[in-house]
Amino acid sequence: MDNFKVAIDGPAGSGKSSISSIISEKLGFTHIDTGAMYRAITLEALKRKIDINNENEYDFLNEINIIYKDGKTYLNDKDVSEDIRKEDVTNNTSTVASIKKVRDKMLIFQRESAKLGKIIMDGRDIGTVVLPDANLKIFLTADAKVRAKRRCIENEQKGIESDYNTILNEIKVRDYKDSHREIAPLKKASDAIMLDTSNLTIDEVVNKIIDLIEKRDNMSDKEVRMEDWAEYSKKYKPGDKVTGTVVSISDDKTILLDIKSFTEGTMHLDHFTNDKSITSFKGLVNIGDEIVCQVTSVKESQILLSRQNEIKNENFNELVKFKENDEAFEAYITKEIKGGYNLSYKGIQLFMPKSQALNDTKLKTNVFVKIIELDEKRNKAVVSAKAYEHELYIEKRDKQLEGISVGDKLDGVITKVEKYAAFVKIGDVIGVIKARDVAHEFVDITTVLKAGDNIKVEVLGKENGKLQLSRKALIETSYDLYKKEHKIGDVVKGKLTNKLPFGLLIELAPNLKGLLHSNEYSHNPNDNYNNCVVIGDEIEAAIIKFDDEGQKISLSRKALMDNPWDKVDAKIGDTTNVKVLEVGKNGLKVLAYGVEGFIPLSETMVEFGKKLADYYAKDDEAQAVVIDINKKEWKLKLSIKKAEDEKEKELFQKYLKNEEVSTSIGEQFEEVLKK
Ligand code: C5P
Repeated sequence: MDNFKVAIDGPAGSGKSSISSIISEKLGFTHIDTGAMYRAITLEALKRKIDINNENEYDFLNEINIIYKDGKTYLNDKDVSEDIRKEDVTNNTSTVASIKKVRDKMLIFQRESAKLGKIIMDGRDIGTVVLPDANLKIFLTADAKVRAKRRCIENEQKGIESDYNTILNEIKVRDYKDSHREIAPLKKASDAIMLDTSNLTIDEVVNKIIDLIEKRDNMSDKEVRMEDWAEYSKKYKPGDKVTGTVVSISDDKTILLDIKSFTEGTMHLDHFTNDKSITSFKGLVNIGDEIVCQVTSVKESQILLSRQNEIKNENFNELVKFKENDEAFEAYITKEIKGGYNLSYKGIQLFMPKSQALNDTKLKTNVFVKIIELDEKRNKAVVSAKAYEHELYIEKRDKQLEGISVGDKLDGVITKVEKYAAFVKIGDVIGVIKARDVAHEFVDITTVLKAGDNIKVEVLGKENGKLQLSRKALIETSYDLYKKEHKIGDVVKGKLTNKLPFGLLIELAPNLKGLLHSNEYSHNPNDNYNNCVVIGDEIEAAIIKFDDEGQKISLSRKALMDNPWDKVDAKIGDTTNVKVLEVGKNGLKVLAYGVEGFIPLSETMVEFGKKLADYYAKDDEAQAVVIDINKKEWKLKLSIKKAEDEKEKELFQKYLKNEEVSTSIGEQFEEVLKK
């Protein structure tokens, strides 16, 4: 094993240096850490404060001397082993290592160093560029997260504070830069053995590599080739499912995966993702990532890989999530079929029944839909654009509803008129006007309202996302209009429309009736309007009351007439002149105090057995005494008899006053009779 050369490549933190160092000690190899060399150059470049991106500023390379010995790095004879691990050096080395001048110099130097003896050299391009003839090539990988964790533990042990996320990010950036640079990018040599160390301890990795070294050392070149063939002889056919490990990111649009075959599998970006917004593998994958995929074609020198099947499954899982969360998503309408449309979401065909499509559905456009049925077994989904539109509508409607209050006066458009209600659209909100809220009077609303007409309404309430509206609240009533033009005391005319037990209804204006209460018909309590007027008669009356709340007008007819009884100034016992108006059977109708009075037969001077007509005739005049009076009921009862008695008494009194009262009553009578 005199000139045995081991090339170990891999991304940052995969364990190359530590493992190479242990193996070299165990097997007596010389370990050359090429990373440390690039770090030393970076240290010097930073010290010199050059523009590290400018190739022309690297002339200092001729002036420096780097030695890597016994695990230590010397720069111009100074041990810089610790300085080259500092953060600024770590973060700038990939840039420095991408400079051609630097790599050319290092290539010569590294090849020179590896010329003699047993060498284990680790880096990024050892198997591919520096030592393409190495006896054993190992490509170490590990998941980026595992590598970041390892770096954190390492720092902790050294007493350096570190943040996991920062380190993970730095590792990803370094992976990207190292595998994307033009010269000698990090990639697995096709004959390198891939070792994923994510789940292995250092000892396990060391032992594995030592085994390989020992086995190789005892094999002829032919045997080695045979073993390589055996290791990588897995044959694939299109459609096979494989798990590959990213070993190289050749360019933004291509990656190479180790799939344990005669060559790496190639995957193009459009077979990695269907997302057209992703234009590069940058930040998408890392060296060492494992990718489950499908072999799509196997040619002599190339195996093409694709994630299309996986993408389909992933996308279908997205649909499952959409359904679970009742979430809307955008799909592309591909074609019209019987009963509906075919849509496509990330390559998955969806069906939208016509009933669930919007009226303005256009082919070759995107539309927001929601899943209404999902058949996970058959990877089929039925979607609805209406469901989403409805959701949007509800959202907008509720927002608008929040801004509307009871009492608001709004403009809307009538959308539908039914027998008992009309529907009005106000922006995104629907309102209902019940028949009773259409007009003040009873109307057939289908004749008053028409779909498509504009309408002014007042909000009465909100319920279940709808408004209760009133049209009539904004219309002046016949009462309001009438009241504007009339006042109490006005004399008005109207047709008698109804005779009620307590009064008459008189139509004052269309849809407006006034009430002429029975008490207001006449001053005369004996006047019965039932006998005086018929429906349709024109009646004149005065307005005596407006009742705004009840929207009622009260009328009075008697207010227009004089009440003869108002002038009657009489009380029981008063004597007055009367004139006979009519001679009846039971008494006399007379005119007294300007009103009609009655003298019963018993109160006249008619002697028993005689008739009234024997004594009195129409227009006769006499004196009578008031014996009963009720002005309200127009009742006046008089007595001629009483007046005659009074007269007699008066005479008697007068006589008594004039003569000495010395005689007896009999004598007094005699005197009177003598006269
Ligand atoms: O291996 P280590 O992390 O010490 O390497 C530091 C940096 O040096 C790497 O990230 C890489 O940019 C560079 N390097 C390189 N080629 C090598 C070894 C290291 O470009 N062979």
